Amino acid sequence: MEKLIYLDNAATTKTAPEVLEAMLPYFTENYGNPSSVYGFASKNKNAVNMQRGIIAGVLGAKPEEIYFTAGGSEADNWALKATAEAYEKKGKHIITTKIEHHAILHTGEYLEKRGFEVTYLDVDENGVVKLDELRAAIRPDTILISVMFANNEIGTLEPIREIGGIAHENGILFHTDAVQAFGQVPIDVDACHIDMLSASGHKLNGPKGIGFLYIRKGVKIRSFVHGGAQERKRRAGTENVPGIIGLGAAAARAAETMEDRTAKERSLRDYLIGRVLAEIPYCRLNGHRTERLPNNANFSFRFIEGESLLIKLDMKGICGSSGSACTSGSLDPSHVLLAIGLPHETAHGSLRLTLGEDTTKEDIDYVVDSLKEIVAGLRNMSPLYEDFIKKNQTE
Ligand SMILES: *Cc1c(COP(=O)(O)O)cnc(C)c1O
Repeated sequence: MEKLIYLDNAATTKTAPEVLEAMLPYFTENYGNPSSVYGFASKNKNAVNMQRGIIAGVLGAKPEEIYFTAGGSEADNWALKATAEAYEKKGKHIITTKIEHHAILHTGEYLEKRGFEVTYLDVDENGVVKLDELRAAIRPDTILISVMFANNEIGTLEPIREIGGIAHENGILFHTDAVQAFGQVPIDVDACHIDMLSASGHKLNGPKGIGFLYIRKGVKIRSFVHGGAQERKRRAGTENVPGIIGLGAAAARAAETMEDRTAKERSLRDYLIGRVLAEIPYCRLNGHRTERLPNNANFSFRFIEGESLLIKLDMKGICGSSGSACTSGSLDPSHVLLAIGLPHETAHGSLRLTLGEDTTKEDIDYVVDSLKEIVAGLRNMSPLYEDFIKKNQTE
């Protein structure tokens, strides 16, 4: 087989073999509709509810507070649109940040077109929300604060407990997009004052197209998909039973393996960061040095085009990303890198490498060796770099 070093686990992950195995019978012998009355099918309702219990257990929530969705984007859309509608009599102001995933940012724009006001908070140079600016943005008509648990591009972990505390002191609902964090860092919805939380199966070695929204009991939120009475009448549609089984299995597995897995990833991540910063000149690490996802490294290389870098890495069997997967293909620099203050040119030369549970030290060595060679080669062809070197020599 051709060499493949997959360092794009923030875009998606491989479904774990045990997860797939747990799912398979629900495609074949256990195909019944959970809403049917006969035992053959209704036992699938129990299977689905068991996954709710497993996921709730991981978050310190109650099983009936977990609502299955078709992934993270749907959960984010639901949280924002449905709270906006349910609480618009109280106010029409929402606070979020400039570094959210597009599932939040574009939903914010959608709501702005419908008469809501959205404040997009700045972040500091490490990508951390500034709590004093959050406090200052709160108004009597603020109904919702939505801040991501961990950023998908630069890996920065936000001070969620403090943000949730501020929201609740002010009687405001708090939603967090935890798609990158769920399964990677411990989360307790009570300790962090979280009212709603989005997560997605395929970011934690589960299947694609399945996720959930945690909705704290008592939060008024409208139904998102109208139809049958599934998901306590809040999200209609015959349950994606194999997907839900896979999501539950992935969540249980991620919780069980979290400590060892993330310790290993953290140490490999730091090894990668250390080597790149020491061995490649004119390069920087983006995101917080320590308060970051265990598997995320994001670099900017001056005088380099991120897209060319990705193509050259691909030729060596290495998969990385230059922005988020959704912005790839467009030439706009990442909104996250601009928000942390990078100039356009530096933001363009960025590379995100996100480790997986199977990543080895040999993989990292191969990647750093390849990266050194590629960056040097690309710089040799860059007129900007040539000018820069000439100037530095004459000074
Ligand atoms: C991947 C991702 C999403 C979208 O999840 P899907 O399941 O792919 O719809 C939302 N937010 C963040 C932070 C993500 O990383």
